[in-house]
Amino acid sequence: MNRDAMLHAVRQELGYWDIIVIGGGATGLGVAVDAASRGYATLLLEQHDFAKGTSSRSTKLVHGGVRYLRQGNISLVLEALNERGLMRQNAPHLVTHQAFLVPNYDWWDGPFYGAGLRVYDMLAGKLGLGPSKRVSKDETMRRIPTLRDTGLKGGVVYYDGQFDDSRLAVNLAQTAAENGGVLLNYMQVTGLMKSGDMVSGVTAVDQESGEELHIHGRVVVNATGVFTDSVLQMDDPEAQQIIRPSQGVHIILDKEFLPGNTAIMVPQTEDGRVLFAVPWHNKAVVGTTDTPVDAPSLEPRPLEEEIEFILHHAAMYMSKIPTRADVRSVFAGLRPLVEPGGGKTTSSIARDHFLVVSPSGLVTITGGKWTTYRKMAQEAVDNAVLIAGLEEKSCVTKHLRIHGWLKHVDRKDPLHVYGSDEPFIRHLVEDKPELGELLHENLPYIKAEVVWAVENEMARTVEDVLGRRTRALLLDARASIECAPETARIMAEALGKDDAWAQDQVRQYTELAQGYVID
Ligand SMILES: Cc1cc2nc3c(=O)[nH]c(=O)nc-3n(C[C@H](O)[C@H](O)[C@H](O)COP(=O)(O)OP(=O)(O)OC[C@H]3O[C@@H](n4cnc5c(N)ncnc54)[C@H](O)[C@@H]3O)c2cc1C
Repeated sequence: MNRDAMLHAVRQELGYWDIIVIGGGATGLGVAVDAASRGYATLLLEQHDFAKGTSSRSTKLVHGGVRYLRQGNISLVLEALNERGLMRQNAPHLVTHQAFLVPNYDWWDGPFYGAGLRVYDMLAGKLGLGPSKRVSKDETMRRIPTLRDTGLKGGVVYYDGQFDDSRLAVNLAQTAAENGGVLLNYMQVTGLMKSGDMVSGVTAVDQESGEELHIHGRVVVNATGVFTDSVLQMDDPEAQQIIRPSQGVHIILDKEFLPGNTAIMVPQTEDGRVLFAVPWHNKAVVGTTDTPVDAPSLEPRPLEEEIEFILHHAAMYMSKIPTRADVRSVFAGLRPLVEPGGGKTTSSIARDHFLVVSPSGLVTITGGKWTTYRKMAQEAVDNAVLIAGLEEKSCVTKHLRIHGWLKHVDRKDPLHVYGSDEPFIRHLVEDKPELGELLHENLPYIKAEVVWAVENEMARTVEDVLGRRTRALLLDARASIECAPETARIMAEALGKDDAWAQDQVRQYTELAQGYVID
């Protein structure tokens, strides 16, 4: 993928795009993959970088949602379990099996999780990842030696999926592009064009050059997550607000807090939430919280009380108690929760996603979760095709391999996340051995990945590379700040930028990454 070539394609396209997608998170990228692979002329516009919003800030689980099962929402669980299986088949280089242990202390309801998880296994059917089972206290402690053993009776082990969210987003963008789609990051939609009362395209501003573009499309899909209302209001200034953002925070700890490969799932915290501690890229991701916030933001800030809440609960279950000084990074994401009654859904089935077609023909899709992005995209494109009067073509994403697809990868090798692209990164090192050097001694990334991200994954800034092409910002925010100057130098060379650009990048990145460090 190359941004200049993409921009050129937009300028050359004098007619109408079949489908214009606003938003380059999981939902919008899913729509772009679906539409492009059905053969429609597809354009996606993202105001910042792909997955800059919620889609790089998840718990990194591909899951049916054990908690929905408890609420008795079987159809939702069934759909998500099916999607979990498809995601694993279509992106095996990024989606893995993950064992979870629900510790059973004498003060809570172990029995539900025994029987409930058997139902979970059954619902997954042939796409199941492994049967759940009760385990003894000894086996529990063997799997998670850092678990607090006072009052521990045993546990239940079950399986779900785990993935790297922003890497999958980049691979989805590549998949859409390989199917003929055009995708632009740093292209903000500022208005909708109308023909009579109907939406006929978008006005967009290139965030790099300031150039304004007027782009015609037969149908426009609003996939802007927590920003959904701003696009609905471009369509109708009187539109009722439907999104109520809710913030979720995670902290990252070193592996020593969660040695082994098993994750912890605490079904009920003091405020009734689910808490996870999950091994990820040789660290542990621990979270999350649920805090209503007033306004959407691309860079939400964790609250002190959210950090304290996570540390407090971690201390209740871990014998090795994490302190603030142990936190390598803290990050926040916003759930686009849809307010009940705001707008008309086209679907009567109980779902946690929301699809609405405005009288102007604008198709809005939001809510849901990463796990169900493919199904959400399919529904959005089905609706968009009808609105636009396009020739109907069947969805092909159920068995569409995502860019990088590789069945067997060595998960101990940090380059495994590139799947089938891995050999190309190794070639970069063969040509220029210094690119094989680590960016930082505390991070698993080599310099060649910076070059690769610029040349093939449309990375434009140091933040794109350290935040989403690699996960340095999340794995160790301080270390990532230390390697920003070298990252900027390599990027400047690859992009043909000068020293002033590199320095400015380092300044901007450092300012941003400080927000992920806690003192
Ligand atoms: C704390 C937390 C944990 C989660 N954990 C999980 C999990 O473990 N598993 C799971 O399956 N799901 C999880 N989810 C849910 C999942 O992350 C989201 O459902 C999903 O990422 C939403 O994707 P999206 O594309 O709708 O929104 P976003 O990722 O926010 O994408 C919307 C995009 O639209 C862009 N945009 C906005 N306005 C404009 C404009 N005017 N022009 C151009 N672009 C624009 C934004 O920049 C943004 O990139 C979690 C969510 C949270 C908050």
